[in-house]
Amino acid sequence: MTDAQALVKTLDFQLDIQSDNESLLYDATLEARSAYNETIRLAKQGVDWDTIPDRVADDADLVKNTTQRVVAKALGAMENYYEYDDFDQPSHTKDGAYPLRANYEEGYNLSLTDDGDVTFRISAKPYKHVKGVLEGDDAHLDILKTALTSDEWKIGTAEALFHNDNAELHVNVTNTEQTVRDKQDSRTVVGVDVNEDNVALTALSENGVEDTLVIAFPEIKFERHRYFTMRKRVQNAGKDSIHDTLEGREERFVRDRLHKVSRHIVEWSRQFEKACIVFEDLKEMRDSIDYGTRMNRRLHHLPFRALQYYTSYKASFEGIPAGWIDPYKTSQRCPLCGHAERANRNKKRFKCRDCGQQDHSDRGASVNIAVKGIKKHQDWNVPALNSLPVVRKVRRQASGAVDAPTVTHDAVRGYQTDGIVGVSD
Ligand SMILES: [Zn+2]
Repeated sequence: MTDAQALVKTLDFQLDIQSDNESLLYDATLEARSAYNETIRLAKQGVDWDTIPDRVADDADLVKNTTQRVVAKALGAMENYYEYDDFDQPSHTKDGAYPLRANYEEGYNLSLTDDGDVTFRISAKPYKHVKGVLEGDDAHLDILKTALTSDEWKIGTAEALFHNDNAELHVNVTNTEQTVRDKQDSRTVVGVDVNEDNVALTALSENGVEDTLVIAFPEIKFERHRYFTMRKRVQNAGKDSIHDTLEGREERFVRDRLHKVSRHIVEWSRQFEKACIVFEDLKEMRDSIDYGTRMNRRLHHLPFRALQYYTSYKASFEGIPAGWIDPYKTSQRCPLCGHAERANRNKKRFKCRDCGQQDHSDRGASVNIAVKGIKKHQDWNVPALNSLPVVRKVRRQASGAVDAPTVTHDAVRGYQTDGIVGVSD
């Protein structure tokens, strides 16, 4: 139960194919589908599994070890079916693309250019390559570049596939030096409540609430709303290229700030004994967030995901595991008496309609997230909560008046405690 996990990441990229043969890659994914189907068909016929890889590889128009990887994945699906017989038996009659799974330096290769780009070469068919440049999120590119230049990392298999007609490459990398502690082996659970303008953190151990911190980032909300309005304006004027430029600028700004916030979350969590960081599972977010009407869902959605991702991977570099819980009623439930209703919450203020407890509502949510994290992953009991410590609140230092953020000062680093305690919004 206390086994450490290898630090493995799957990094997703879009392929900017520059060798003018995108159809070759698509054909290869169709060939991968044939290899998969043939494997399943032979396995259902009762053919000896040891002989299947060679039989399929002889007929497939793919690099041999790529076929072997596809066969192994198909046999894995069959094995799962036998082991958990409530699943559907894998089909051997589906058509369409199937991920082309390849070994590093055999079925595909990557290299770092002097310009800092990562180029790829995928052997789609024997002696036929698809080449170009990887594009994707900074966080993923950063890890990949580190992996390409450091002995600590090993690059493993990758899958080339088509997602909404776009070619993608998903690359597995493993850090051979570091491990992440098993999340069941934690003594402190840090609940993270991510909002549009702040993130609330509560560390909960068997002894109760260890500490609460709210990191405010009003400049992210401010800038996102500003860019949103600007983009709408140029879009209505039909100026798509300006629209795209603005979108790129906004993304870089938000990403940069979120990286800093995620670093702060991990730094703060490190002080606690055997911490595990717990987030709300965004797939189930629909009911738990009061989005308001001013902005659309997409606008709100994006930074939540990014912040969770940045935080979890930075935490894993420190050996700290992350977990996800169902967000149902985390923002409405009273952390002391458990009473849950919508009326308990009025924006940033929480007042329990049953026991009268008053609090910063995002802090309350972070307590509830930590409680769910303990129930889901730990074998120790949630402590009885009779009172909660004051909320400490910090925000990124901005030059000039803090309450009128002018937010383009990249040179300003670090955080500053602004002395606000208690319910402050
Ligand atoms: Zn209550």
